[in-house]
Amino acid sequence: MLKTNNLGYPRIGALRELKKANEAYWAKKISQDELLQAGRQIREGNWKTQQDAGIDLIPSNDFSFYDQVLDLTLTVGAIPARYQGFAVEGASSYNLDLYFAMARGFQQEGLDVTAMEMTKWFDTNYHYIVPEFVKDQQFRLTSEKIINEFNEAKQLGIQTKPVLIGPITYLLLGKEKEAGFNRIDLIDRLLPVYEEILGKLAAAGAQWIQLDEPFLALDIDEKTRELYQQVYSRLSAAAAGVNLVVATYFESLRENTKTALNLPVQALHVDLVRGEDQLDELLAGAPADLILSLGVVDGRNIWKNDYEASLRKINRAIEKRGADRVWIAPSSSLLHVPFDLDLEDNEQSLPAEVKNWLAFAKQKLQEVKDLAVLATGDADTAIAQRFAANKSAQQSRRTSSLIHREEVKARVSSITDEDAQRTSPFAARKAKQQEKFNLPAFATTTIGSFPQTRDVRKWRADLKKGAITQAEYDQLIAEETERTIRLQEELDIDVLVHGEFERNDMVEYFGEQLSGYAFTKNGWVQSYGSRCVKPPVIYGDVSRPSDMTVRWSAYAQTLTNRPVKGMLTGPVTILQWSFVRNDQPRSETTYQIALAILDEVQALEKAGIKIIQIDEPAIREGLPLRKADHKAYLDWAVRAFRVSSSNVDDDTQIHTHMCYSEFNDIIEHIAAMDADVITIETSRSQMELLDAFADFNYPNDIGPGVYDIHSPRVPSKEEMVKLLEKAKAVIPAGQLWVNPDCGLKTRAWPETKAALEAMVDAAKTLRGIAEAV
Ligand code: GLN
Ligand code: ZN
Repeated sequence: MLKTNNLGYPRIGALRELKKANEAYWAKKISQDELLQAGRQIREGNWKTQQDAGIDLIPSNDFSFYDQVLDLTLTVGAIPARYQGFAVEGASSYNLDLYFAMARGFQQEGLDVTAMEMTKWFDTNYHYIVPEFVKDQQFRLTSEKIINEFNEAKQLGIQTKPVLIGPITYLLLGKEKEAGFNRIDLIDRLLPVYEEILGKLAAAGAQWIQLDEPFLALDIDEKTRELYQQVYSRLSAAAAGVNLVVATYFESLRENTKTALNLPVQALHVDLVRGEDQLDELLAGAPADLILSLGVVDGRNIWKNDYEASLRKINRAIEKRGADRVWIAPSSSLLHVPFDLDLEDNEQSLPAEVKNWLAFAKQKLQEVKDLAVLATGDADTAIAQRFAANKSAQQSRRTSSLIHREEVKARVSSITDEDAQRTSPFAARKAKQQEKFNLPAFATTTIGSFPQTRDVRKWRADLKKGAITQAEYDQLIAEETERTIRLQEELDIDVLVHGEFERNDMVEYFGEQLSGYAFTKNGWVQSYGSRCVKPPVIYGDVSRPSDMTVRWSAYAQTLTNRPVKGMLTGPVTILQWSFVRNDQPRSETTYQIALAILDEVQALEKAGIKIIQIDEPAIREGLPLRKADHKAYLDWAVRAFRVSSSNVDDDTQIHTHMCYSEFNDIIEHIAAMDADVITIETSRSQMELLDAFADFNYPNDIGPGVYDIHSPRVPSKEEMVKLLEKAKAVIPAGQLWVNPDCGLKTRAWPETKAALEAMVDAAKTLRGIAEAV
């Protein structure tokens, strides 16, 4: 029998119980004991689910109250100095006060301590807490969470495989907080703590320990490869007879293959979903006694596994290595997929036919087990039936008319270079647009959304519940839109927006109106801490049956003589924030979305909306993990944006907007998008970002954000003037726009008005200076 291995299980709870417990604890509505109890229940539930599914290697320590990287930071005692006021309560406890202060900051009882930084976990939408290291960093075992949770499972009669982020990956995930050292050189100080942990787990009776080293699947240098060899020699000596499995995921091993295969450990986990092509090389190069854990079930996406395709891979491995040297596993931790498909009963938004193509975490366990049994050929009738059902689900996906729409495919394949190219170069367009709009220098605008107040959200909820009619709802939205137009006129903003009150979310709003999209009821995935997202599902060829935004944009335009911007989400962002198809390349899906957006752009144009913004905040985060793959991605991502925005009149002004990340390293690709205007988040970096635009001689217009919308603080006119002066020093004044960093939907009205008033004042001050010269 093949063994089954699971790397990690979602811990937020089937119905987001952990989110609710955490938030109740933070609001002081439940006690520490109640929170701990909620954690225990989730762990026990998860272990039993995995046991019932027949998983042999069940993970422990994959549970976390906030983040597994933060857990490790506490475990090895890398506690930044600013948290000194928080007591370490002893290794046996969770140290929750200290822990949450590190995660979320602490502002009470006369203390004011900032949180640790958070960033994306590789190319997922999960965010981890970034470890902070100083030159003279010390480590010591400060929390025995990993040992305690192993013992907890053992007491429930379940033998688990403790999971720990490996020491090299842990150091690489962190950040030096002072100059004069390289964090990887801390390894000699860190390893004794790992050795201590391994020793304690051995004493507690662990048989397998999983060390996650995803950096083995990334671009690392020769020195790091050598370090892997040394570090794992030490760890395997310290493991004192306990078996080690090193887990890699999210990419293929490529030039690190030899290093990974020759680590002195008992098993190596590889991602055969992202790294499909690496199997043969692995089979050829693996030492005879190494166990290969084959990650064949996608841990990152929600599609049913294709059993036949997986079995082909598995059988190749068994032939080469024998059944006792092969494990079956998900490609990565299941943290990144929703909990349980059985909780979906919403025929309306998730039709049965589509649901039949999906598998969430719980279903993926079953898939892993089925594959293990099927591969050795002794399936009982239940499994044989599931195999048959799996085949027919795959078959229906290949042919279903819900998915496949010839006219959509044909349209994508007939995209030409001309479709991705504006008629005239920017300079000519700019002249025509200036003639049309006659905007002042330092033209002012906002990014799109205005405050989504409790009222606005309540109207939407009431409509959904049927408490108000569509007509009543539309009336409320119309009134709110009109108030917002009037306000912008009073503030004397140059290019107005309608306010986006009709939208719940910038992707969901479009997804709901595009064909090829489905929605789940409980498909939550942890984003960070207690925050979860519920990405929509792109299952089929995407098209746009009818207008999506024209109504509210056109309505807003009837209210004013000033131009109102049409507001759309771009194809790459729509792709990036959805669960996407795995039966065609991401680029293909993106082009389909791009054409749908183009249709909307043209409909807006026809309706008299001549300034149109296509938001692409997620373009940077779609970047592949390996540098070698960057160019190919950027080429199609940029081209898809251009397809969505090029087939318009010269005097139609296309804006785009970006935020959330650094853009310096992709500046030439941003320029290649050829938007007439880009509005971009810059205020938090004090306009530093603009240096890249200046160095590059960015040709088109730029609106660097002049204030941070993430805080209720109202910036003064003087501050913004200063920032604009800074911008003007590096970018020609004639290219500059004035706007906030991002949309205002999370803000309240009073601070929004005050901030925009000061912003318009700042723009006018700059115009005054320009005229005086
Ligand atoms: N137009 C969107 C808004 O204003 C943009 C949001 C974003 O960039 N994330 O809310
Ligand atoms: Zn933004």
